[in-house]
Amino acid sequence: MLGQMMEMPLTIGSLIAHAERYHTHTEIISVETTGERITSNWGEVGRNSRKLAYALRKLGIAGGDRCATIAWNNRRHLESYFGISGGGMVCHTINPRFSPEQLSFVVNDAEDQVLLFEQSFLPLVEKIYPLLKTVKHFVVMGPRDENIAQAIEGLLFYDELLTTGEADAPWPEVDERSASSLCYTSGTTGNPKGVLYSHRSTLMHTLVGNQPDGLALSAQDTVLPVVPMFHVNAWGVPYIAAANGCKLVLPGPNLDGKSILNLIDDTETTIALGVPTIWMNLLAALEASDSTLASLTRTVVGGAPLPPSMIPVFASYGVELLHAWGMTETSPVATINQFLQRHSALSDTEKTTLRTGQGRPLFGVDLRLLDENGELLPHDGKTQGDLQVRGHWVAKRYFGQDKDALTDDGWFDTGDVSTIDEDGFMIIRDRSKDIIKSGGEWISTVELENIAIAHPEIANAAVVAARHDKWDERPIVIAVKAPNMNPTEEDVLAFYKGKILSWQIPDAVIFVDNLPLGATGKVQKAELRKQFGEHLMDKGKQND
Ligand code: AMP
Repeated sequence: MLGQMMEMPLTIGSLIAHAERYHTHTEIISVETTGERITSNWGEVGRNSRKLAYALRKLGIAGGDRCATIAWNNRRHLESYFGISGGGMVCHTINPRFSPEQLSFVVNDAEDQVLLFEQSFLPLVEKIYPLLKTVKHFVVMGPRDENIAQAIEGLLFYDELLTTGEADAPWPEVDERSASSLCYTSGTTGNPKGVLYSHRSTLMHTLVGNQPDGLALSAQDTVLPVVPMFHVNAWGVPYIAAANGCKLVLPGPNLDGKSILNLIDDTETTIALGVPTIWMNLLAALEASDSTLASLTRTVVGGAPLPPSMIPVFASYGVELLHAWGMTETSPVATINQFLQRHSALSDTEKTTLRTGQGRPLFGVDLRLLDENGELLPHDGKTQGDLQVRGHWVAKRYFGQDKDALTDDGWFDTGDVSTIDEDGFMIIRDRSKDIIKSGGEWISTVELENIAIAHPEIANAAVVAARHDKWDERPIVIAVKAPNMNPTEEDVLAFYKGKILSWQIPDAVIFVDNLPLGATGKVQKAELRKQFGEHLMDKGKQND
């Protein structure tokens, strides 16, 4: 017997319709690429996105067609998210930090019909223009500008395009299983791979990801997604903000510590989200300012391991760090570090230790560990293995491929190595590509990095494997000194003593001005291995 309840499709159109209707006047603050801050609201974003949906349809764009964006986090990008997906098309967010080859690859692979981009990216678009095979319409995300109108034949301007749309037409009916948005993985090895989200997967992530033990964003919050809208849909924040009527602050292109600090203080942001490098830069700016981060209560940290030494520093400003884990393939939030009731009895030190892990799965996400022979490993908090995941918002196959990317029994292999305890608290030990095998024993680069970053005279550090005659691989530290500090290699190595088993202590420290950051702000360890992987093979630098 079937149940007798209403069934309404779980669509992105329904999200923005809700925000437009019930949170009409809730503000959206947008930092434009010009630096200007403009204030809009969910009512206006809703109207404009419906105009965009119908304007695109009038251009001949059909349901399911891919429409790409190259843009920072701002108001027009937000409207494009809802306009494209809500209108039944697929919003393909492109990472502007991709190389020109990767950019043209993803546009052609996605068979994008429309490319919406900010004016500042015009030189980039002009460069790849001759390589683009499918794009019929190029749209500058701004008002008409006669100075650039001839740059590309038939160039359209977003604000003009909206005037051809319809503000009062209802959102079209869309099957909740149909594709809504497309995001390519960062592509550190080989070409980027597309992950095609559905309306249903996005709504499931929106609903479950925002439970009290999830991100827990509310209508009382002012939310600043520093994480870019081209990186896994800004971790789903635009959708969660629409469902819950959050005030949203979209930071534009300047994501340095000082700009973010000013934005938090000026807009009274309560919650901000981003990768650890963002928060390291923010702390540096904070120390040089007289700000007290008065409004900020929480930051959500993910995308790379949270350095534990940051936790007490943020706590001294009354800011809780919430550690979450996920991937482009998991939409992304899969685990989040919210405590259980019994953890309230823990000491501050024990709580800090627990906070450094990546947390436990949200309802609807399942995790398991396997050894190299594919045998299941226990969830005892000690045994480490290959992490696999499944769930309502986990990818099944990559875009354009004819085979699922899953194990025979339906799990997605994450490429991460972790432990899981009996409550499901998961700790990422490393990426399987980064972990060091020294004399047959595993060494976690994450653990070694956390120690180096905790050194008061070190601003940031990465640990990578260097080739070694006797041990195959040994860890070396690539470190950036803190401003006005001058630690030596010996200082940093001495700092490891007593914190870790002696054979795990790195063999060398190399100081650099900056660590190479990838397209999503993560340290590029492959690049460091290329640069320094032979360091110990030179000039008799090997220790026994
Ligand atoms: P991406 O698809 O670019 O978001 O990258 C996903 C990968 O980032 C994961 O497989 C992890 O290796 C890493 N990652 C994401 N969140 C965390 C985290 N909280 N701690 C450690 N690594 C993380």
